[in-house]
Amino acid sequence: MDYKSYTHPDYFNIDDLLTDEHKLIRKSVREWVNRRLKPVIDEYNHEHKFPEFIVKELGELGAFGPYIPTKYGAAGLDFISYGIIMQELERGDSGIRSVASVQSSLVMYPIYEFGNEEQRQKYLPKLASGEILGAFGLTEPNHGSDPGSMETKIIDKGNHYILNGAKMWITNAPIADIAVVWAKDEAGVVRGLIVEKNMEGFTAPETHNKWSLRASVTGELVFDNVKIPKENVLPNIKGLKGPMMCLNSARYGIAWGVIGAASDCYHTALTYAMERKQFNVPIASFQLNQKKLAEMVTEITKAQLLAWRMGVLKNEGKVTPSQISMCKRNNVETALKVARESRQILGAMGITGEYPIMRHMMNLESVITYEGTHDIHLLITGFDITGIAAFK
Ligand SMILES: Cc1cc2nc3c(=O)[nH]c(=O)nc-3n(C[C@H](O)[C@H](O)[C@H](O)COP(=O)(O)OP(=O)(O)OC[C@H]3O[C@@H](n4cnc5c(N)ncnc54)[C@H](O)[C@@H]3O)c2cc1C
Repeated sequence: MDYKSYTHPDYFNIDDLLTDEHKLIRKSVREWVNRRLKPVIDEYNHEHKFPEFIVKELGELGAFGPYIPTKYGAAGLDFISYGIIMQELERGDSGIRSVASVQSSLVMYPIYEFGNEEQRQKYLPKLASGEILGAFGLTEPNHGSDPGSMETKIIDKGNHYILNGAKMWITNAPIADIAVVWAKDEAGVVRGLIVEKNMEGFTAPETHNKWSLRASVTGELVFDNVKIPKENVLPNIKGLKGPMMCLNSARYGIAWGVIGAASDCYHTALTYAMERKQFNVPIASFQLNQKKLAEMVTEITKAQLLAWRMGVLKNEGKVTPSQISMCKRNNVETALKVARESRQILGAMGITGEYPIMRHMMNLESVITYEGTHDIHLLITGFDITGIAAFK
């Protein structure tokens, strides 16, 4: 597969809405994906291994916390740039985009937004450069869609807390140097803590045998009487609002990112359909294949427009969590449908690792579940338009 010939679909001239800086950022991330990721990603995926070399290189690219100010070592870009970076990375692989999402929105963002100046100075430059990697612990074995019922707890011991509990399905967990962990205090208030790798009583076993996001590491965070110094507590946030604000930021990036996976599938299917012949004509000649391709580019265009508008609203500080939910839900569903239709266009070849489609499709099965499931996002929209919560 000649991935270097990739061009993104731009049926409604959305590029006209981007600045030269946006296009430059896209070019540099695209080149990195072509040069460093595309040639090896299938192998890592096959071996269920994380390509560790990417961490430093993503740092050099400015892909970690790109919207965080430059004084903390990050790139200080706008939110559309963040979206574009996620999109290009996810064209490579959703697992690699997940690593950048977690580091950016679930680790750097809470430290920047809820941390004090010492915490910012201590962690953000190292996270931005990829010198250290972070994880985000919210989901628990018994609490996924309902994190407010979390059981992980801290007990105040004067100058430190004692942390007990377990988190599950945590991206980067086994290889992370730090984890932003959400736990309840004795009053039942959710607090954010920075847990460091070598703290006694803290382990992070890997979750094996995933058929999705195989090039990203997932694991547990297990806390057995872990002593957390009080300076590791994020001082400027209390309650479930903290992790929810992080998730909003990550969902924003996902809504952009999945367009990359969809565009890669569409590009692959279109290229293949023009080259592959059956009945002596390219399979792109058949109306049923044209229907698939035409519907794909229509849905991708709608996803692009939604993401762009969401980006403008985010830059203006006006985007709502419900708008982000709608965009995440719509765009992930679009990407999955595009992957499935593209797979059919390639016939039997579509199931091989020669082409990226099956890998994207399997990855997207996680993306549609994490950061709020497809149905939970629908209920968020339902709640927003009716004022009635249908979660219980
Ligand atoms: C690869 C991967 C990486 C992840 N990384 C992280 C991470 O880094 N950090 C982290 O904290 N978490 C992470 N997660 C966890 C993820 O966010 C959860 O899986 C997700 O929130 C759903 O929780 P659950 O799997 O427990 O499903 P459940 O909450 O048990 O839901 C199961 C099903 O029931 C439905 N459901 C649940 N409640 C309702 C309701 N009220 N109304 C209607 N339907 C409902 C859901 O939509 C879903 O279809 C990751 C997950 C995966 C797969």
